[in-house]
Amino acid sequence: MSKYWSETTKNIEPYIPGEQPKNRKYIKLNTNENPYPPSPKVIEAIKQAANENLQLYPDPNCDELRNTLSNYYKLLPNQVFVGNGSDEVLAFSFMAFFNKEKPILFADITYSFYEIYVNLFKLKHKLIPLDNKFNLPLDSFCIENGGIVVTNPNAPTSKYISVESLKKIVEYNIESVVIIDEAYIDFGGESLVDFVDDYPNLLIIQTLSKSRALAGLRVGYAFGHKDLIEGLNKIKNSINSYTIDRLALAGAKASFEDEAYFQSTRLKVIDTREKVIPSLRELGFIVLESKANFLFARHNTIQAKIIFNELKTRGILVRYFNKPRIDNFLRISIGNNEEMEVLISKLSEIILKIETSN
Ligand SMILES: *Cc1c(COP(=O)(O)O)cnc(C)c1O
Repeated sequence: MSKYWSETTKNIEPYIPGEQPKNRKYIKLNTNENPYPPSPKVIEAIKQAANENLQLYPDPNCDELRNTLSNYYKLLPNQVFVGNGSDEVLAFSFMAFFNKEKPILFADITYSFYEIYVNLFKLKHKLIPLDNKFNLPLDSFCIENGGIVVTNPNAPTSKYISVESLKKIVEYNIESVVIIDEAYIDFGGESLVDFVDDYPNLLIIQTLSKSRALAGLRVGYAFGHKDLIEGLNKIKNSINSYTIDRLALAGAKASFEDEAYFQSTRLKVIDTREKVIPSLRELGFIVLESKANFLFARHNTIQAKIIFNELKTRGILVRYFNKPRIDNFLRISIGNNEEMEVLISKLSEIILKIETSN
């Protein structure tokens, strides 16, 4: 606490990212990073861009990257916004579209940044409780609101919501902007991107951090009606015109130009996920169905906190949330096959140790 802090600074509770340990080499299954490196073509493009042009500001409108994205997703360039990670795109969207008078709706168990943003931007909100199977009750979105945000597939539950269900939420709430955070959509879900032309209130947000293995580059993007994109640009250009640097612009573009690499790594992650689920179930875990690059699981006898700590001593980091309703679950990112084999063997060791000591 400092006397120099504003009221806002005093009152906010910032997001706590998953650990990025420096002291020891862990198998990192705690922040949903991709287990594979980015495409070699991305690295090459970034190297090429590391030249004397860094003397000059980057293109504030990200025209080339927006052209690439709009071709890839069959949109118009004016339906695309690019930001410094999707967290920034989300923050700009809350500022640009959410109404101060009415509550913003989002699930009680979802990406924890939403609650931080509503507090930071002094918005009201109402949490929509997921049912006891962690499904989103669609009817709960049929109330007055100042905006809606839904993660699909949801984090940290990994559960996927059908396009049909989401379209109902978007249609019913035509007076509000409905944000669909599709950070994990490439791992088996269907995007709403094909419906951007149908709904003036639909904003889809995606990221290069997960399926494109570029968490370190910080690029996210949004798709929506051109008026929504114009709104985002108004906010961005009132804060920082140059959110994406030259290296990030080059790397992001190259990522969409190496489709074969993207498909092969994406499918490898899905394949590993489907192999790990039965092994975890054999060890007594209840594992939710997943269309993401992580699993949400609890053990039928041993507490999640205990397993979390035992794994950590054995050099494996997973994510544990000390929050109501999910404090007995672990969120486990999908690593490569070898990493997941080590996870399974360490888990059987831990479970055997605990069960024989009881
Ligand atoms: C990882 C994640 C993001 C943030 O991604 P960045 O592009 O790295 O900022 C946004 N939403 C959800 C649900 C995520 O899991």
